[in-house]
Amino acid sequence: MKPAPFQYHRPTTIEETTTLLETHRHDAELMAGNQSLGIIMANRLATPNHIIDINDLEEIEYIDVTESSVEIGSLVRHRTIENSAELKATLPLFPQAAEQIAGPSVRNRGTLGGSIGEADPAGNYPTVLTALDGDLHVTSVDGSRTVPATEYFIAYMFTDLGEDELITGVSIGRDPFPADRTGMAFLEQKAAAQTWPTISAATAIRVDNPKASEPVVEEARVALANAADIPLRVTEAEASIQGEPLTDESLSAAAGAAIDAAQPEGEMHADAEYKRELAGEYTRRSLETSYERATTTQTDQ
Ligand SMILES: Cc1cc2nc3c(=O)[nH]c(=O)nc-3n(C[C@H](O)[C@H](O)[C@H](O)COP(=O)(O)OP(=O)(O)OC[C@H]3O[C@@H](n4cnc5c(N)ncnc54)[C@H](O)[C@@H]3O)c2cc1C
Repeated sequence: MKPAPFQYHRPTTIEETTTLLETHRHDAELMAGNQSLGIIMANRLATPNHIIDINDLEEIEYIDVTESSVEIGSLVRHRTIENSAELKATLPLFPQAAEQIAGPSVRNRGTLGGSIGEADPAGNYPTVLTALDGDLHVTSVDGSRTVPATEYFIAYMFTDLGEDELITGVSIGRDPFPADRTGMAFLEQKAAAQTWPTISAATAIRVDNPKASEPVVEEARVALANAADIPLRVTEAEASIQGEPLTDESLSAAAGAAIDAAQPEGEMHADAEYKRELAGEYTRRSLETSYERATTTQTDQ
């Protein structure tokens, strides 16, 4: 099938874009990488009369790393995030998540903002942003606002984003994640290559002293993709490993907490019970990897 006819707009500034969104607010879709929108429109699951192509908005295509934060513009492609040396050195969860999205063609075009706009609970970046307590920056003709990731995802593919709002970027505070004593891991289970994950776990661990004989977990982060109708932060799993060196017992407690928290929908390759088991297993593996990385070299996460 082909998409229904639409009027095509190609703004070059944020202001022009938000004005178009305001004018056509009930009948417009933003187009970024067009990797998801194109499929939805081709199947006529969406039939907007106006397409606002944002690929000329250079203002929202940036990666800025400062001492205190990491800022990523919404038009940054998965491929750029995957290959960013700055992100690998500061918040390696982002490149790890990016490199596991679909295949090269999707990664070459797909964008951070498109993934957050789509808000699929199986999405890689939504899970990473939830784990790292990221903030989303959105703007409209009425002004700009910041939304914590933990408040943005409301229900299945339903978010706090208004119809007239553009996501301009995200920011993540670096203070909780000093590179010399933090490890991060994004692990996922897929039924087949280049598809969406059945379950993913995004985790981070900061230890007190990587050189100690038994480094203590000072802070842990755990978020799961596709384990509920929104990206799922599992604070009980975090609490069960904090304040002591990582052990088999504490890992089992974290895995158990993930199983208890998960409320997945069954799907073709995995029923709900199997996905809950996967949530536990991938929480365990991801935390173990994060701890190994926090306590060894930081150069190759
Ligand atoms: C075969 C396949 C496998 C995939 N596997 C994965 C996977 O494993 N993990 C994963 O995370 N993703 C996966 N994806 C999705 C992929 O990451 C998409 O690129 C992404 O979800 C959409 O990004 P896009 O830039 O193409 O957005 P588009 O398709 O252009 O837009 C998607 C939606 O987001 C909105 N939008 C776009 N930009 C903005 C913005 N700046 N502000 C507000 N709203 C905006 C659009 O209006 C639209 O509703 C897969 C896609 C395919 C086709």
